[in-house]
Amino acid sequence: MVNEAAWRELKKELDAAKVTLVAVSKTKPAAEIQELYDLGQRDFGENYVQELVDKQALPADIQWHYIGHLQTNKVKYIAPFIHLVHAVDSQKLLDEINKQAYKNNRFIDVLLQLHIAKEETKFGLDEVDIMSIAQQYLIYPDVYAHVRIRGLMGMASLTEDTEQVRKEFQQLQACFRELKEGLFLNKPYFDTCSMGMSADYQTAIAEGSTMVRIGSMLFGARDNSNK
Ligand SMILES: *Cc1c(COP(=O)(O)O)cnc(C)c1O
Repeated sequence: MVNEAAWRELKKELDAAKVTLVAVSKTKPAAEIQELYDLGQRDFGENYVQELVDKQALPADIQWHYIGHLQTNKVKYIAPFIHLVHAVDSQKLLDEINKQAYKNNRFIDVLLQLHIAKEETKFGLDEVDIMSIAQQYLIYPDVYAHVRIRGLMGMASLTEDTEQVRKEFQQLQACFRELKEGLFLNKPYFDTCSMGMSADYQTAIAEGSTMVRIGSMLFGARDNSNK
C-alpha cells in the first residue's frame, strides 16, 4: 500500500533541497503507481525490462527511469520511451543506447554508474573507465549524437555503518564534481548525481545528491521471493 503521508513529507523535504524524487516502483502493481501519480508524482524507477514494458499502459507523461543493470540486448525494448538510464556500466551499453535512440528517432539521457560499494557483486565502472568513456563521448559528438551523459549514479554498501556510506557518497560526489568542472565544464546538461535510497537518502543529500531513488519508504517492503 502506498504511504501517502510519507510521500508528502519526503516531497517537501526534497523540494526544499532541490533534489528530484524517483519513486522506485519495481515489483509494485500499476494501481499503486497510479495512486502516487494522482498525488503529483511523475518520475518512477524500475529495474526489470519486461515489467517496465508492461507498465506502459500507465499515463504517458510519466518519466520512466531505468535504475538497474541493463543488458545490451534488452535496450531495444525500452528505447522508445525511457526517460533516463541510470546505470550505464560499459562503453558497449552506451553504444547500444545511442544506436537504439537513433532508430527511434530520439535522444536518451544516461548516467554512468560509478562502483563505490565495498561489495564486489554490485555493477559499475571505476574512475578510470568513467573518464575514458566520457572522453570518447566528448571527442566524437557526431557518433554519440543520440545519447546525452547527464551525470553519475552510484549505490553505497548495504551497511549500518553510516560513515562508510558517507565516504562512498563523497567519492561519487568528488568524481561528479571533477567531471563537471573538467571535461563537462561547458556542458550545463551535466547536472545529475543520482545517489540515495530509502535507508541512506539523508546522508546522500548532505553529500550533494541531486536525485534520490526511493522505493520501500513509499510503497512498503517488496516481496523479492521470485526476483
Ligand atoms: C530497489 C532500488 C532502489 C530503491 O531501494 P529502496 O531501499 O526500496 O528505497 C534504489 N536504487 C536501485 C538501483 C534499486 O535497485
